Amino acid sequence: MVQLDELSSRIVTDTTTQRTSRSCTLGGILLDSSVIAVESGSSLDIGVSLRSALESQFNLPISHLFLTHTHPDHRNGMMAFKDTTLIASSRCIEDIPRSVKLGRWSVQTFDDRFILGDDKQVEFHHVAGHTVGSSVAFVPDEKVLFGGDLFFEQSVNFGLPFMSFYQNRPKSDGNPEEYIAAYEKFKTLKVEVIVPGHGNVIYDVQNYLDMQIKFFKDLRAFIISEIKDGKSVDEINLPQLEPIEQAYVDVESRQQKSAARRFLKNYLEKLKRSFYSYYS
Ligand SMILES: [Zn+2]
Repeated sequence: MVQLDELSSRIVTDTTTQRTSRSCTLGGILLDSSVIAVESGSSLDIGVSLRSALESQFNLPISHLFLTHTHPDHRNGMMAFKDTTLIASSRCIEDIPRSVKLGRWSVQTFDDRFILGDDKQVEFHHVAGHTVGSSVAFVPDEKVLFGGDLFFEQSVNFGLPFMSFYQNRPKSDGNPEEYIAAYEKFKTLKVEVIVPGHGNVIYDVQNYLDMQIKFFKDLRAFIISEIKDGKSVDEINLPQLEPIEQAYVDVESRQQKSAARRFLKNYLEKLKRSFYSYYS
């Protein structure tokens, strides 16, 4: 099921499983003498398949499971790693759904940043944005970032951000300011490769980050000015910003156009409401 591609001798990723399931992208990072699994997929089967693929790739034990956040498409395979240490941000663990029982798990949490490894290091940064607890894994020697759902590459959801289900208690939608701050931080880290939460690996990173920042800032300026003009959320129509225009073009290339149109309409509606509720 899981098919690992080598991004380097230390870093592997699977972008195949997501094509035939509701899973996110998956990965693994080699430490000094063990391996970190990145995400666990949308089902136990996928988690098991990821684990055995990582074990045969590196021929070393899996010591850690890193979850960028705990949406079901990322966490549902986690029981395949129950003998390893779970790494997640403190805010992620605080907001984890009550249905997820961590009872006997060994859990390593961190507030802002956590570094694992001696010779072969991995950094974890809490950035929030997509969810209150979202964090990323960055391999500084290789400049590779596992960015989780701060990134939906073009082939999934038209490359537009998914901002619902930010927080469980109380329920709220995503935080655009945190997205912008995160993207700016990734620019200063000089990331060269991004494994997105969904879609294909991104190599044109600086350009891509600039486009994302511009989209968020343009949308922010537009929504704030509409709110100042006294408009209600239902009176607002999203402007023809480039990524939105591009999404409309993409829809027309899909096989099931009317379903794709409906999906995009709902998706943009959610995006508009997330920005509106944040800035009003
Ligand atoms: Zn996801």
